[in-house]
Amino acid sequence: MTEEQTLRKAGVRVTAVRLLIWRTIHREFTGIFNLADLEEALPTVDKSTLFRTLNLFSDNHLLDEIDDGSGSQKYCQRNADDPLSDVRHIHFSCRICHRTVCLTNIPLPEVTLPEGFEVDNVEYVVKGVCPKCRGVSYTPSTPA
Ligand SMILES: [Zn+2]
Ligand SMILES: [Zn+2]
Repeated sequence: MTEEQTLRKAGVRVTAVRLLIWRTIHREFTGIFNLADLEEALPTVDKSTLFRTLNLFSDNHLLDEIDDGSGSQKYCQRNADDPLSDVRHIHFSCRICHRTVCLTNIPLPEVTLPEGFEVDNVEYVVKGVCPKCRGVSYTPSTPA
């Protein structure tokens, strides 16, 4: 599937600038990024367009938004290999290096709320110390 087809299938009305932004994210951003990273990658596109387009992609489930407590909104692709997948993943935030990483092999747990509650968004950020800061090796494993 081309990047243009992905946008269409996700329900995004394709414009040249949206395609450019999606292509940049899809090809260059493997992990978590924020608006500043996108500004740096696309200095010719104005900031408000970048911000609106991030929200649009997020509304159409191409991106997930992560609030890791750093005060800056972060984003990642839900699944770079299969952008239309609806399986989301959890994140890990390290209190030493302050990096947040995608744990793409760990799906978001299913949460069932009592009657009367309506869900807008579910985020799952696990906090602790990452393998690098602990000085241990880490090999991503496949889900059990
Ligand atoms: Zn760390
Ligand atoms: Zn992620």
